[in-house]
Amino acid sequence: MRILPTVVVVPMLAAAVQAQPPSAAPQPPPPLVKENATVKLSNHVYAIPDGNVPMVPNVGIIVGSRATMVVDTGLGPRNGQAILREVAKVSKNAELYVATTHFHPEHSLGGAAFPASAKFVRPKVQQQDMQELGKDIQNTFASRSPLNQELLKDVPYPRADILFDREQRIDLGGVHVRLFWRGPMHTRGDTLIFVEEDKVLFSGDVVMNRAFLAAGAASSINTWLATLDELAALGPTAVVPSHGAIGDASLIARDRDYLSAVRARVRELKAQGKSADDTAQTVVAEIQAKFPDWTAPMRIGAAARAAYAEAK
Ligand SMILES: [Zn+2]
Repeated sequence: MRILPTVVVVPMLAAAVQAQPPSAAPQPPPPLVKENATVKLSNHVYAIPDGNVPMVPNVGIIVGSRATMVVDTGLGPRNGQAILREVAKVSKNAELYVATTHFHPEHSLGGAAFPASAKFVRPKVQQQDMQELGKDIQNTFASRSPLNQELLKDVPYPRADILFDREQRIDLGGVHVRLFWRGPMHTRGDTLIFVEEDKVLFSGDVVMNRAFLAAGAASSINTWLATLDELAALGPTAVVPSHGAIGDASLIARDRDYLSAVRARVRELKAQGKSADDTAQTVVAEIQAKFPDWTAPMRIGAAARAAYAEAK
């Protein structure tokens, strides 16, 4: 506890401050992908769970008879190397594909560790996100701690070997992966990745597990809801969000409940002539009460504002 000499400390407040234990805010664990933690989800699909550690993604490993695909690569090459060691335990394939659910550093910047022969596949819009927004967010992440700084120092965004508009299907040998892009949701370039034969969905931050979805100014809640319908229709047996516990199709239904509640209420309030600020304030309070056990309620406001911008 450091109190600047110029600050006048009210005695009662000082007592309250002193009463707090010195380690009231525990440091989160370092943003490192856990080794020897890989789990098998289905015939061809493995995951390295994030252990709920911030800035660590759930990593996917999809193994066919001919080729292997990695989904998300961790925060910088040190994490990418840890992922490659896990890949080697479950696959002997020399041919490697790398997909990223979105451009944010903990999903994409481990790519620098992958061999030159690996093929990076992503939608054109995700490539645009990397080019236009990548450097800024890399600097933001690097500024959060000395370790982040070290993990991200001078790391380039990975090259693209296969770029697609809306849809790309890749045959790994006995198992097919469908990657698709539908528009701006968590980011402009979100990529959904569905393993057809195994019915496993890697949902990025488009579907999460009892965490409010993170929207931004570019997000379309209409696109998001339509995409959730499309994802539900795929009938996935496992849904791997890019953060948080792995679940099933109920994750999609819950997120649909959340975003449709936001959209419906925003439409009503806008129709009554309420401003964007008033609408966001009302919706945050109501929605938080409706989903009391969900994390990151500070994200509701941005979803309400995105819905407001779209509401007729
Ligand atoms: Zn993200």
